[in-house]
Amino acid sequence: MSDVQLRASGITKRFQGVTALAEVTVEVERGSIHGVVGPNGAGKSTLLNIMSGFVPPTEGTVELEGRDITRLTPQRRVPLGMTRTFQNLRLFGGLTVRQNVLLGQHSHARTGFASLWPVPTAKERQLRQEADAALETFGLTELSRRRAETLPYGLQKQLEMARAVAARPSLLLMDEPAAGMTAQERRALVPRIRQLRDEGVTVVVVEHDMDLISQMCDVVTVLNFGRMLIEGPPDVALASDDVRTAYLGG
Ligand code: ADP
Ligand code: MG
Repeated sequence: MSDVQLRASGITKRFQGVTALAEVTVEVERGSIHGVVGPNGAGKSTLLNIMSGFVPPTEGTVELEGRDITRLTPQRRVPLGMTRTFQNLRLFGGLTVRQNVLLGQHSHARTGFASLWPVPTAKERQLRQEADAALETFGLTELSRRRAETLPYGLQKQLEMARAVAARPSLLLMDEPAAGMTAQERRALVPRIRQLRDEGVTVVVVEHDMDLISQMCDVVTVLNFGRMLIEGPPDVALASDDVRTAYLGG
């Protein structure tokens, strides 16, 4: 039975002369890990930016739980359960790992810097437990007191994910989470993202690493030159001749 949590319908995006996306429709099933892949410039980040509200579509609509959210700002999507990570990091380098995660919760809990106050309220205690659980999920517990900027890049990426997860999203959008990670960190990512899915978080992930996508995703949408090439289970979609040709530039 189909249970669509997020629907981007008939999405077209033009930047001046460039058509980044043309009439793309993607339905994300609740409880799935949905990959978006395609060669450089295919429109993947633009699609994620439109889904998360950072870029308005030229045409088309975005619906979350059946509600039209096309014109909602990213901030107003967070209380509806949507959060995201970026291709480039957006951390507070001078704060600790744990402080970064605590601050990530403020958008849903309205606590802001109060969450760093040494004497917590009951609500703050609960938030701190959730933050610690997110740190644990991403293997950062031992590093929680380190300043974020002192972590190697791959761990900073994991911290960004922990921060997003601590906001307790029901839908998490990630742009190239594995970029800049070591092979070992990439391997560790698959069970972590699956765990999130199993805990009830729907995941949309843009990723360049095809191995990762095929191990991780339930469904993939392949974009090429702003158009949808194919969609389906990774073993089927990624095996198609059209996808090979697009990637190999044939
Ligand atoms: P991908 O993430 O798949 O590599 P993008 O979504 O970043 O692709 O880009 C798709 C196309 O849209 C590219 O041709 C890119 O140059 C163009 N594009 C993306 N963002 C902008 C922008 N802000 N202004 C102009 N062109 C853009
Ligand atoms: Mg991109």
